[in-house]
Amino acid sequence: MHLDAFTLAFVSFLISIGQALAFSLLLLILRRQPAMRWWTVGWWCSTLGLVLIALRGSIPDSLSILLGNGLFALDSVLLLKGLSVHLHCRFHWWPAIGLVTALLAGLGVYAFIVPDLRMRLRLFAVQEVIWDLWAMALLIRHGWRDLHLSARLASTVFAADALASLARMAMPLSTSGGSAFDQASGIAIFTYTLTLMLGLALMLSQIMLVTERITNDLRRTARTDGLTGLLNRGALQALARPLLAQCRNTQQPAALLLFDLDHFKHINDSFGHDAGDAVLQRFATLLLRAAEAHPGALACRHGGEEFVLMLPGMNLDAAHALAMTIRSELAAQPVHIAAQPITATTSVGVACAASEERLAALMARADTALYQAKRSGRDRVCVAGVAPPMDSPDSLTSPSPA
Ligand code: GH3
Ligand code: MG
Ligand code: MG
Repeated sequence: MHLDAFTLAFVSFLISIGQALAFSLLLLILRRQPAMRWWTVGWWCSTLGLVLIALRGSIPDSLSILLGNGLFALDSVLLLKGLSVHLHCRFHWWPAIGLVTALLAGLGVYAFIVPDLRMRLRLFAVQEVIWDLWAMALLIRHGWRDLHLSARLASTVFAADALASLARMAMPLSTSGGSAFDQASGIAIFTYTLTLMLGLALMLSQIMLVTERITNDLRRTARTDGLTGLLNRGALQALARPLLAQCRNTQQPAALLLFDLDHFKHINDSFGHDAGDAVLQRFATLLLRAAEAHPGALACRHGGEEFVLMLPGMNLDAAHALAMTIRSELAAQPVHIAAQPITATTSVGVACAASEERLAALMARADTALYQAKRSGRDRVCVAGVAPPMDSPDSLTSPSPA
């Protein structure tokens, strides 16, 4: 197969402008993904850089060599800036600007003082490797946990790009001062083709990074309660069942605490709905703190002013003690709205899963205990009795005063 220099330049240009256009169009619907803006400008920079480099001989060398390669380097800076924004980490401008300046100074020397194409290609390849390693470090440190698939794919693309750059450094070239495209034959064609394929792979990884982020955000939103940030009822159903099954299989206990704030309607009626919301948020903070202290625990707003704390590995005594702690914390810490203290209390039903007991049955027993706490005066904890045999409809509860 023979590919001449013009064909390579033309195909590179077509692909590059296609990438820039594709990102500009994607930006229309992905405006809320800030990384997309940096990356789109980056793709246009590299397209323009490619044009300037391809025009070598027809335009001044300062434009072709310095501005052309400078635009490529700027594309790398924008790529890393976008990556940092996407991964929610700080971007350090000074090392980036320093690297671009060093590249341009080196290119200037080897273009105008000691003309040497091989050295220019080497310099360019070295800075490519540095950008690639920088991008990989960002992805591994800040992306691998959340962006499971796309961060790994992107890291692989950057690693491949670094290897391709090293291969380009070793590429045999005559040291005459002609354009890089004049050398297009054999191994040169191979490395150009590889570069084009890596460009496409990079574009795909960027789109996957954004898609995976959006999917994660949507999934999180779908299972989170908007007011308190706790899990919502649907998420509890989805997560508690496998948790219970796991406890059953490992013969671990599992406790469930069902909370219902007392006379909450009265709080709304007396202090307003916003004050009621603030009380719900305060209570959610208490639950979240308790959940964070117990690995695997699930804290959920089950609806209105009802909350659930599910604690794998916790027995009835420990669950009772925890319920008492949360109850007394809420009662002891009034929420201040416009300098007005609002004291809320909660009733709690506690149940521990019996072997083979399903979530619905466990919830029903905790609910019966909660009902008993309400009936016996509120602001107290009641513990569900031993689970009845599987074929009995009864669930005994024993009150346990606060
Ligand atoms: P009890 O002690 O028997 O539980 O009495 P209660 O007033 O807490 O129970 P009730 O079910 O009568 O009232 C619950 C109230 O919770 C009614 C509803 O307006 C309020 N509520 C539900 N969701 C929200 C919310 O998101 N924000 C606020 N501020 N109030 C809410
Ligand atoms: Mg209620
Ligand atoms: Mg209530």
